[in-house]
Amino acid sequence: MTRFPPEPNGYLHIGHAKAAIIDSEYARLYDGKFILRFDDTNPENALLEFYDAQKEDLRWLGIEWDAEYHTSDNLPRHYKLAEQLIGQQDAYLCKCSPEVIREGRFHGKSCACREQFTGPVGLDLWKQMLTSRDMTWILRLRGEMNSENTAMRDPTLFRVITTRHPLTGDTYHVWPTYDFAGAVEDSISGVTHPFRTKEYELRDQVYFRILNLLKLRAPHLMEFSRLSINGMPVSKRKIKPLIEQGLVSGYDDVRLPTLRGLKRRGIVPEAIKQFVLQQGFSKVESVVDFSLVESVNRKYLDPRVKRYYFVPDPIQLVVKDAPQKTVKIALHPDATMGERTIHTASIFFIPRQDAMKMNLGEVFRLKGLYNVKIIKKNETIQGSYSGDALIAETAKIQWTTEEHIPLTVFVPGLIFTGENFNPESLQELHGYAEKAVAEVPSGDIVQFERVGFVCLEKQKTGLVGFFTHK
Ligand SMILES: [Zn+2]
Repeated sequence: MTRFPPEPNGYLHIGHAKAAIIDSEYARLYDGKFILRFDDTNPENALLEFYDAQKEDLRWLGIEWDAEYHTSDNLPRHYKLAEQLIGQQDAYLCKCSPEVIREGRFHGKSCACREQFTGPVGLDLWKQMLTSRDMTWILRLRGEMNSENTAMRDPTLFRVITTRHPLTGDTYHVWPTYDFAGAVEDSISGVTHPFRTKEYELRDQVYFRILNLLKLRAPHLMEFSRLSINGMPVSKRKIKPLIEQGLVSGYDDVRLPTLRGLKRRGIVPEAIKQFVLQQGFSKVESVVDFSLVESVNRKYLDPRVKRYYFVPDPIQLVVKDAPQKTVKIALHPDATMGERTIHTASIFFIPRQDAMKMNLGEVFRLKGLYNVKIIKKNETIQGSYSGDALIAETAKIQWTTEEHIPLTVFVPGLIFTGENFNPESLQELHGYAEKAVAEVPSGDIVQFERVGFVCLEKQKTGLVGFFTHK
């Protein structure tokens, strides 16, 4: 039995995706069960909207869970266990200031509370703390103040937080820390193989100590490394200021590694899953390039999405002697994906960059249509019809007719260069898309031939595209 324990304090990102995929796949692999548990024991962070948003994101990833609950559902049970620890003199109430506690931990020196406020005296104080919202003491484990492992130096188990909780309201104001709630919940919910990232390594000793003192079953802790992507930080500390300063549009900005950002950009859940499984269960910390995600995504999209013409930075091409044609052009080499019909006359648009590279007299092919010879190059290009037959080695260029739609494609780059926000991280590509693109449903990914994959989005101002990758 495994579990994914997100804190409902934000949108899920690719790091969460790795955890959720490993947790759920591991359970499937051994025909086990997979629990979704919201670790919502810090009311200062938990927000109601995130419970649903996180579930929505998990469903988008294709993850299903066998059971779901909130740690905040179990607070009475946590209180009972805390009482047990105090009664056994394994935990004590501490009224010292955060500074004194920090100093004590640093020097490995315990405070007077350790001997004074445990056992029956501690229990009385604990009961007072549960009823009075003004008694801002903490409950600490009697660990090992001289331990080499600083996490063992009497860690905090409960603290008072009077902020209203999104689910339990004002019912509780004494909240367990991650050390306590994580260990207890893994055990009492029946989880056998909880995964944690390597950064919690030092806290493992605390985890097992708490369970041991409570005589609760100890699960088999599993470890995996955090997933980091070069130039795409996942921490809220780094992302939040960007949103507040309006440097990105929100948590679904296409430059961010949030699942919502990746979705808008055209990264599909199947690719994320495959990418995570490719990385494997390794414990080695690694920073990977986003190009690895892109290459998995490309392999997934290439045989599946329709292809259209988009002409970036268009220049007009006039083919004076052009035959009027009605052509059907396949939307994909796989003929089952259909075709679109285009009527052509003498006016076309082709990418300026291609036009500039070609010389007078050169023959190129309007992809899927016919050949054109360049006669004149000015503000526009003049050409003449040069036959239908395919000529080897000729450039095949995408085009549109006068019937096109103007389209801006936003091209995301790395949002951070080193430690700094990269102001050049969102480029714009302006151009004309063929008319059929207007019929593509919002959110669909297409391939613009010779440009790349693009996720289309209908906004209030009209259709825009987000560049997925080449
Ligand atoms: Zn103290």
